[in-house]
Amino acid sequence: MKRIGLILVGLVVLVIAVALVRTLTLSGPDASSSASADPVAIDAEAAANRLGEAIQFETLSTQFAREEKRAPFVDFRNWAETTYPAFHRVASREVISKYSLFYTWEGRDPSLEPILLMSHMDVVPIAPGTMKDWEEDPFSGKVENGFIWGRGAIDDKGSLIAILEGAEHLAAQGYQPRRTVHFFFGHDEEVGGPSGAQKMAPLLQERGIRLHWVADEGGVVADGLVPGVDSPVALVGIAEKGYVTLDLTASAPGGHSSMPPGATAIGRLATAIDRLENTPFSGGIEGPVADMLDAIAPSTPFGLRFALANRWLTGSLVEANLRSNPTMAAAMATTIAPTLINAGVKENVLPHSASAKVNFRIHPRDTVESIVAHVTAAIDDENVKVSVFNPGREASAVSSTESDGYQILSQTIRDTFEGAVVAPNLVVGGTDARQFELVSDNVYRFIPIVLGPNDTSRFHGTNERITVENMGKAVQFYVRLIERGSK
Ligand SMILES: [Zn+2]
Repeated sequence: MKRIGLILVGLVVLVIAVALVRTLTLSGPDASSSASADPVAIDAEAAANRLGEAIQFETLSTQFAREEKRAPFVDFRNWAETTYPAFHRVASREVISKYSLFYTWEGRDPSLEPILLMSHMDVVPIAPGTMKDWEEDPFSGKVENGFIWGRGAIDDKGSLIAILEGAEHLAAQGYQPRRTVHFFFGHDEEVGGPSGAQKMAPLLQERGIRLHWVADEGGVVADGLVPGVDSPVALVGIAEKGYVTLDLTASAPGGHSSMPPGATAIGRLATAIDRLENTPFSGGIEGPVADMLDAIAPSTPFGLRFALANRWLTGSLVEANLRSNPTMAAAMATTIAPTLINAGVKENVLPHSASAKVNFRIHPRDTVESIVAHVTAAIDDENVKVSVFNPGREASAVSSTESDGYQILSQTIRDTFEGAVVAPNLVVGGTDARQFELVSDNVYRFIPIVLGPNDTSRFHGTNERITVENMGKAVQFYVRLIERGSK
């Protein structure tokens, strides 16, 4: 008995020792994260003014975009041509589906796979009734008190103009890439890219082009948004979630409400939704979430670092904690969101059927097919029919954090945003980037813009703006990215 006791104590001491060693030897933030790279001389104010001009083109995407609303895309294209003459001299331009733009800046070595930098020209409309809440007109592009105001400043004209500014800067200096650099600026990303990215990627495939890596919009430099981390965290999307909406239709005998049968359509539907919400999709700390936690762990305080460094010991505790945070929960598993419900025509008539729409954001480990199976099993009622309401889209593939592309992006982020910790993540929204899986294994999603707790609601929301200082950094970021990526 005493011996068993001693062995147990020994084991506990060993576990504590191993956990401590793991915590203390966790490598700290990269020493090169000092923004010490050669400074890139950028006139941030001038770049900000040009972003302001770009915002004035009302390049809107609405669910039912009509052709007559497309003129601003042509005006923008002409503006870009005169505003960035050096870039337009060195790169050839193709217009895809009348409005999307694809550029080729030929490299000296045609044996190297090209890279692709992306952004989109279209913006979402101003939500009805919110115009009066804007401090500046959303299409004024006003530059004042250190901010550039307007729809698209964050999503995604900030990146678009920063890419063009970066390319212009290099072209004007006579820079010649060794590796070919392509640029793609979609005109319909906000509605899924049906005529833009969904046409462009197959076209590249047809031409036999494989891309070394792709960088599109996605994660941002999150300042004060990642709990427990004081440094800004640059989130680089290595995958994005899929999307599907299912229709659940419950049926039952209808009739007069004075003599209801044992089961009603509305009751069945309610039970089905309740069962579904109580049968969450499995998910844990693995894939992009695990990679992200590993990346931020060295920058967290001792207690959190201990927990993150020793997930073999603390795993279930950490997981339960993350599950209670909607953002983290969304990154860990497929989410379930009932969004519409429909039944009945009159208060004293029992409906024959009741239906609901449930929206799912698909984690890369699930598929539309596995979701239908999960939902059908969870509901377990043959009187409730489960069908796919829209075509949906599968989650993207997960790109590696070991590739050249990820390494170049990380280094460029560290050189541009002082003290930033680079962490991979799973993008919960959709981007044009996923289409390019067809022609590349390495697809990354990052916007070189710093957002704090007061900024997240500006994304697709009211008072969208970025700082002039940030615009300067975004341009520096793309100058370095093009240089490094095409070396
Ligand atoms: Zn966007």
